[in-house]
Amino acid sequence: MYSTREELELGYRYSIQLEKQLSINNDLILNQYINSLGQRLVQSSNRKNIPYTFKIVNDKSINAFAIPGGYCYINLGLIDLAENEAELASVISHEIAHVVGEHGMENMTKQQIIGFAGAVILGGRPTLTEEIISSIIQRGVLTNFSRGAELEADRLGIEQMHAAGIDPIGFESFLKKMRDKEKGESSGFSNMLSTHPPTDLRIKKSFETRTSLSQKKYDVDDDSFLKMKQQLNRIYKKSNNN
Ligand SMILES: [Zn+2]
Repeated sequence: MYSTREELELGYRYSIQLEKQLSINNDLILNQYINSLGQRLVQSSNRKNIPYTFKIVNDKSINAFAIPGGYCYINLGLIDLAENEAELASVISHEIAHVVGEHGMENMTKQQIIGFAGAVILGGRPTLTEEIISSIIQRGVLTNFSRGAELEADRLGIEQMHAAGIDPIGFESFLKKMRDKEKGESSGFSNMLSTHPPTDLRIKKSFETRTSLSQKKYDVDDDSFLKMKQQLNRIYKKSNNN
């Protein structure tokens, strides 16, 4: 229905529009850490032939999302909630899996794909392309996934972690953290929970997937996670003073 080139083009243009509205964090330590963790998971995925970009959003709410073409966004608030590398990797791995499963593109109607593909070929009419992309984005086509797609992203995400040597128990442990937060009054989630299947179901399924995997010795955290968290705390302190 569409080519990889079209998906990359759509993702790139979407990322440009998105980043006009987001504040992207440029801290070197944070970005190097998130990028290397992300690329490590990508290398263990079933879709390594496209480039992936990992960006940190200056936003204290707990959220992460991915758009077609390999663009993944992770909020500072989510990095703050993760207590070890496996927990943080679980969210990044889930987002990579949405790209691997092409869940955003899957949501597009034939008409939207034809319209977009035609606009890309015409090329000379950038406003038309922008209009078509805007209408696709506004309908939430590329970021609102079905329950089936969400559960598939969990399953693929766990498999990617396993293959990368990162303990997939981080999935359950982070989901439980989210469930506990969910019960609190001001949970701090933007729309992460409302756009995903019930957390209890995700925990149950994650357990099933994890325990079905082969036995493996997973990596132990080196001090890079800790160093990244220390830097995050410095940034948080700074922004609290402002
Ligand atoms: Zn998801």
